Amino acid sequence: MLSSIKGSLQKQGIRLTRQRQILLDLIDKSGQHLDAESLFQLAQEKDAKLNRVTVYRTLKLLKQEGLVDELDLMHYGGDQHYYETRMKQEHAHIICLRCGKVEEFFGEPLQKLRRQIEADFGFQILLARTEIGGYCSHCQVLRSREVEEVAAAPLKVKAKVRKAS
Ligand SMILES: [Zn+2]
Ligand SMILES: [Zn+2]
Repeated sequence: MLSSIKGSLQKQGIRLTRQRQILLDLIDKSGQHLDAESLFQLAQEKDAKLNRVTVYRTLKLLKQEGLVDELDLMHYGGDQHYYETRMKQEHAHIICLRCGKVEEFFGEPLQKLRRQIEADFGFQILLARTEIGGYCSHCQVLRSREVEEVAAAPLKVKAKVRKAS
């Protein structure tokens, strides 16, 4: 996958510096959606000389060049932004708002939606981002247990709330 990124960079006349290569590699291989701070930590393991400013600046450049996508994933982690390679096929992100697990939905319905919007609005879509927030199956169980606990022991929970405030 990285070779195709290198090819597209060469076409655009962009030099793949060492820090860009390290970051692209990390984003591409992680298969996850890492935030800037995690990427900085990982990049530093590869090259101790890389500092935070360089990493953040490089991420910004990669975004401007259209090589990586910056996501906020429904802000489940506050103001944090997450990065993934643009080389992936278009997909929707399904985010658990309780544990932060992120799943990816690939598939024809997304392409269909895109085509329908283009037809209905006479719109040329350049970028589409689909984010869906909710609770994963694991968290649904935990949440229903929490609700039961609240119902069973209202006094204990009230006491806990008072302590926290
Ligand atoms: Zn969850
Ligand atoms: Zn993704």
